[in-house]
Amino acid sequence: MTDCIFCKIAAGEIPADIIYEDEDVLVFRDLNPQAPVHVLIIPRRHIATLNDLQQEDAELIGKMSLVAKTVAEQEGIAQEGYRTVFNCNAGAGQTVFHIHMHMLGGRPMNWPPG
Ligand code: AMP
Repeated sequence: MTDCIFCKIAAGEIPADIIYEDEDVLVFRDLNPQAPVHVLIIPRRHIATLNDLQQEDAELIGKMSLVAKTVAEQEGIAQEGYRTVFNCNAGAGQTVFHIHMHMLGGRPMNWPPG
């Protein structure tokens, strides 16, 4: 998608603070962090929302969780705990329509979320 900001980050067309990447997935720090650690785990391939996932995306979505685990260990928050969130569509707060898993940690988390 030519007008998607996360596709542009994945293509290296705009800068981001990338902390992990492989052939399928990219992880970079959120521009507007809501916790001491706040990163976004995205697939390189454009998928607009969770509603657009297909059965064949199961491995990709699973890999995103495994990458979250690895990055949490790297960031030193695996043991204390962290939160992963997908916002799906505007009513849940999605503002960038390229799926992304937020991973937040480094402070206590409240429940329920706002
Ligand atoms: P959401 O509201 O769930 O769609 O989350 C989008 C997230 O992307 C927000 O937390 C933004 O701060 C973050 N964001 C938007 N543009 C960028 C960017 N260029 N680099 C890093 N994070 C971004």
